[in-house]
Amino acid sequence: MNQEATLAYIKQHGILPESKFGQNFLCDDEVIASIIDLAGIESHAKVLEIGPGIGALTRELSKLDIDLTAVEIDKRLAELLRNDPEIRAEVIDQDYLKLKDYGAGSFDIIISNLPYYVMTDIMKKIFAECINARKMVFMVEEDAIQRINARSSTKQYGPLAVLVGTFGLFEECMRVPGHCFVPKPRTMSAVISLTREGRASVLSPEYIRFIDSCFAQRRKKMINSLTSYPKDKVLSALADLGLKSTVRAEELSPETFIRLYDAIIS
Ligand code: SAM
Repeated sequence: MNQEATLAYIKQHGILPESKFGQNFLCDDEVIASIIDLAGIESHAKVLEIGPGIGALTRELSKLDIDLTAVEIDKRLAELLRNDPEIRAEVIDQDYLKLKDYGAGSFDIIISNLPYYVMTDIMKKIFAECINARKMVFMVEEDAIQRINARSSTKQYGPLAVLVGTFGLFEECMRVPGHCFVPKPRTMSAVISLTREGRASVLSPEYIRFIDSCFAQRRKKMINSLTSYPKDKVLSALADLGLKSTVRAEELSPETFIRLYDAIIS
């Protein structure tokens, strides 16, 4: 839907975009087509869309021969989507962050124009649960890219960058200006794509808890934060990897975190 059609749809259905849900609806047909293109969706793929809103992406995805699930927190919008003849998707009207038993492991592709206020939590839940996803395409706030794709030993480096680096290849695909949304957001946005690589198989709720614990006191020695793991195992794992016991989480690459985790839990 272009801007005119989006404004008409919003008016027709009396929708007042809710800033508490981060509702900025995409209204640029080229950006919508590019996002779907980037996802490289093949026939019969199982696709999860988080936050379909009024269906800018969902409507185009519905034209493909795929199995689509869309999770929308706003019950009114979810109902509109369910009754929309152009939408072919299972629409779940729930907070994705609270969603359970949704067959997370079955999704091949995840697409979302992410609600910016919960971007990190949603991405972490996807990494923890959608363990077979091979591709993710997200719209994010441009400023967040520094955190999403941060290098070790920088101020921005934290659990999110470690998990993104663990999942695989990160690409920043395009910048998206405010006029491509209704209403216009305060900041520039960007589309990113993440492609699975071999090391992604370590991702699980336990692994994410481990990474979060490592960064719990990021300015301090990592060992002081790893209190839920046997101290002797942590110390010998660090020594085996040639790391000092005083090392801080922000100094370790995603690959080193995987080796450390394997050594501690083995
Ligand atoms: N996909 C639509 C688009 O591109 O126009 C809407 C994107 S809008 C930035 C984010 C959407 O996520 C909104 O529809 C909002 O209601 C929904 N949302 C916000 N928080 C959510 C959550 N915790 N779980 C599921 N959906 C959520």
